[in-house]
Amino acid sequence: MSNEIHTDALIIGAGPVGLFAVFELGLLNINCHVLDILDKPGGQCAQLYPEKPIYDIPAYPMITGDDLTKNLLKQIKPFGPTFHLEQLAIDILKIDKNTWQVKTDKELTFICKVIVVAAGGGSFEPKKPNIPNLELYNECIRYSIDKKDSFKDKDIVILGGGDSALDWTVELYKIAKSLTLVHRRDNFRGATSTVKKVMELRDNNQINFHVGQVVELIGVNGDLKSVICETKDSELELPCEILMPFFGLTMSLGPLSDWGFSLKENRILVNTETFETNISGIYAVGDINSYPGKLKLILSGFHECALMSHAVYKKINPEEKLTLQYTTTSSSLQKKLLNQ
Ligand SMILES: Cc1cc2nc3c(=O)[nH]c(=O)nc-3n(C[C@H](O)[C@H](O)[C@H](O)COP(=O)(O)OP(=O)(O)OC[C@H]3O[C@@H](n4cnc5c(N)ncnc54)[C@H](O)[C@@H]3O)c2cc1C
Repeated sequence: MSNEIHTDALIIGAGPVGLFAVFELGLLNINCHVLDILDKPGGQCAQLYPEKPIYDIPAYPMITGDDLTKNLLKQIKPFGPTFHLEQLAIDILKIDKNTWQVKTDKELTFICKVIVVAAGGGSFEPKKPNIPNLELYNECIRYSIDKKDSFKDKDIVILGGGDSALDWTVELYKIAKSLTLVHRRDNFRGATSTVKKVMELRDNNQINFHVGQVVELIGVNGDLKSVICETKDSELELPCEILMPFFGLTMSLGPLSDWGFSLKENRILVNTETFETNISGIYAVGDINSYPGKLKLILSGFHECALMSHAVYKKINPEEKLTLQYTTTSSSLQKKLLNQ
């Protein structure tokens, strides 16, 4: 059957932690296929903050979400993982003690020895504003910033009062033709320094700010021209070629919630020695898991991948003794990393 794929490990989720899992498993000769519902790897880093700097990745004083993803993809290249994007893992079936079957919504079937769930907050979607005819202007409505250049010399309207709305106001006003921030209230939920900066920009007329709500979109053939903003006392027509609503995310476990995991607040409980879930042969790493003291940080996920990989090796090769090898001193690891 051509749509049946056999692999040692199936990784569900191509976020930073799923990508690093490929590396740690690869060092132990465990080959991986990686599945993600999104159209590109990188998870939250690529989707929510591709051009924002991250400051707490060890040995990188600063790296953007996009560059972190690129570097991880480069780092795992020697292990040749196969990606299956725009595929949602929907169904699992235990075939025998050591074999799982996973099906996707696009009718792919994986037969694997272990499943590694690296699904972050589950499948996530930005919350959409309740404005009529939103779908007519899909191309002009952005929930994340892919290429900053595409915002150059545009009339931009940003909606919201949290970190994302404020951060992008501070960033994009520099290149926009005009930037208007619209928020329902006169107070914000962002970092104090960013709120202060936004207030300065408003006071210096470098951005416009309105307390109100966008209620109507105006444009031609899918190109947005302006929006109507309802304030306490009036209706304003604001120039707008790109509308950026930042109302948070809806994250849902989706199909994973029916797979029989022990959950705590929608996170999968794991054993912290192995990162195995309550289901033998299924592991969970990164934001999706829960254990006492869990911190939802990229570096925590990376650490979890190392322990999970050793546990997976022992599961797949119960008769073999596994000793820790350093990439600096193991010639066989170096051969794998440099010669493939
Ligand atoms: C604005 C913001 C700033 C942040 N800044 C930092 C920071 O400075 N430092 C830091 O350490 N952390 C930061 N984080 C947190 C960090 O992004 C997460 O800890 C990290 O992304 C978790 O990685 P992950 O691989 O576990 O999950 P994710 O990045 O969420 O990736 C999970 C992937 O799984 C996919 N998926 C889910 N369910 C399925 C399914 N059923 N089938 C197929 N695919 C599925 C999703 O589409 C997604 O691509 C920040 C988060 C946000 C939102």
